Amino acid sequence: MDFQKQKKILVHTCCAPCSGYCFEKLVNDGYEIAGYFYNPNIHPEPEYKKRLGELARYSEQMNFQVLIEEEPPELWFDAIKGLEQEKEGGKRCEACFKVRLEKTALFAKKNGFDGFTTVLTISPHKNSAVINQIGKKIAKKYEIGFLEENFKKHDGFKKSLELSDKYGFYRQNYCGCVYSKKK
Ligand code: SF4
Repeated sequence: MDFQKQKKILVHTCCAPCSGYCFEKLVNDGYEIAGYFYNPNIHPEPEYKKRLGELARYSEQMNFQVLIEEEPPELWFDAIKGLEQEKEGGKRCEACFKVRLEKTALFAKKNGFDGFTTVLTISPHKNSAVINQIGKKIAKKYEIGFLEENFKKHDGFKKSLELSDKYGFYRQNYCGCVYSKKK
């Protein structure tokens, strides 16, 4: 499904440092956005709360709406079962992207959004092509728009670091799940 500007999109978000540049870019690009925090992968709970708290602080300050979806982490562990020992960037991450994007698409569909996207492509550790492929497949399944993005482009990651400094965001040093923390 083609995506045009002036559309209302739900933006899957994982934390404030990844969201700052992406949210501001999307608004500057002409989209009406709402953030959607759904990350049952983040471990342990105090870290989950810290990331969510930083995002809430930033979105309040900037007047961005952020919707929060919470679910027991067991469902995420079920979704990545058998892939626990995969390297970061491998099949476990694909399953993790799928879980989070599928929930985002469903929420978007049920709540009158024209489509969805994710800030995950800002990370230099994540393959944007893989994320976009998964997003497009899910969009097709649920008949909703998916905005393909590669937020790393045009110095996106560098700009996200500058915004993190500007707003004093807490920046985590691991992706999120218990397996990425072990390294
Ligand atoms: S490393 Fe990151 S993307 Fe990969 S499974 Fe863990 S939390 Fe998900």
